[in-house]
Amino acid sequence: MSCAPLAPLAPLALALVACAHAPAAIPPHAAPHMAWGLVLHGGAGVITRDKLTPEREAAIRADLERALRAAHAVLAKGGSSVDAVTAAITILEDSPLFNAGKGAVFTHDGINELDAAIMYGPTRAAGAVAGVRTIKNPILLARAVMENGRHVMLVGRGAEEFAATAHIEIVDPSYFRTEERWQELQKAIAEDHFGTVGVVALDQHHALAAGTSTGGLTNKRYGRVGDSPIIGAGTYADEHCGVSATGHGELFIRYTVARDICARVEYQHEPLAAAADDVVMHELVHANGDGGIIAMDGEGHWTLTFNTPGMYRGYITEDGVPHVDIFR
Ligand code: ASP
Repeated sequence: MSCAPLAPLAPLALALVACAHAPAAIPPHAAPHMAWGLVLHGGAGVITRDKLTPEREAAIRADLERALRAAHAVLAKGGSSVDAVTAAITILEDSPLFNAGKGAVFTHDGINELDAAIMYGPTRAAGAVAGVRTIKNPILLARAVMENGRHVMLVGRGAEEFAATAHIEIVDPSYFRTEERWQELQKAIAEDHFGTVGVVALDQHHALAAGTSTGGLTNKRYGRVGDSPIIGAGTYADEHCGVSATGHGELFIRYTVARDICARVEYQHEPLAAAADDVVMHELVHANGDGGIIAMDGEGHWTLTFNTPGMYRGYITEDGVPHVDIFR
């Protein structure tokens, strides 16, 4: 379909009206755009319709929407992207349906070891924790590390000792256990399913923030740390770009996925979606790195890119309507 020919000097508005019936031409690799808002993921993997009961799908969608709305409420009243990221992630950590906080996967030894990170774009302030076993909301501890400012990453008992001084809620390790995750470990399901949660938000002051929280990989070795808490691998934000990843963490570390996407945007001036596409659909696929990312740039372009059959994902823009999707 083509636009009606117009006089050469027809004003732009007229040209737009005349073309209104034609489908908008979407340039290759164009990312959709929002003035402010956020994108979110709840993990990628072999998520297919036959594996999700309608009840479970509805419950997952409801929690993703609840997280989107909570973060949107923060941004709508002029709040910061860091507050939006933590508002959404704590909701998903408290939900037993995602592999973060309550409901986290088990290590080979039958314990829950949690990782999380957060980064604020304008200052590149960052905080991360890894291998914690008693922190109800690891994203809040990562944030406390960031705000304390002295270090970027704390692990294990050192992180938990710091939590006590930072007034972060401590729980008994049994809090994280869900029967389903326990059965998953028993069956040692080989099928990849990554249930990490992550958020990238752009606030009304044009500040980006990114955060990620996870229990890691089912059956992982005691002490194993994935990409989520590693700045530049599973989590990254600067003035131009923010990314949160989910997938096979070892590959995401080796390919410094989050920073690679943002570096392409910064140095090569690649459109965000093209950069994400190249890294996730080509480089990672080539290396057998299953997973996906969510990303936003400083101008509000955003993308949800994954190379697996599904990724729990969503976005919300200024209008406050949550959008959630699961399958490819
Ligand atoms: N990326 C996480 C890790 O390797 C796992 C996930 O995304 O679920 O620890």
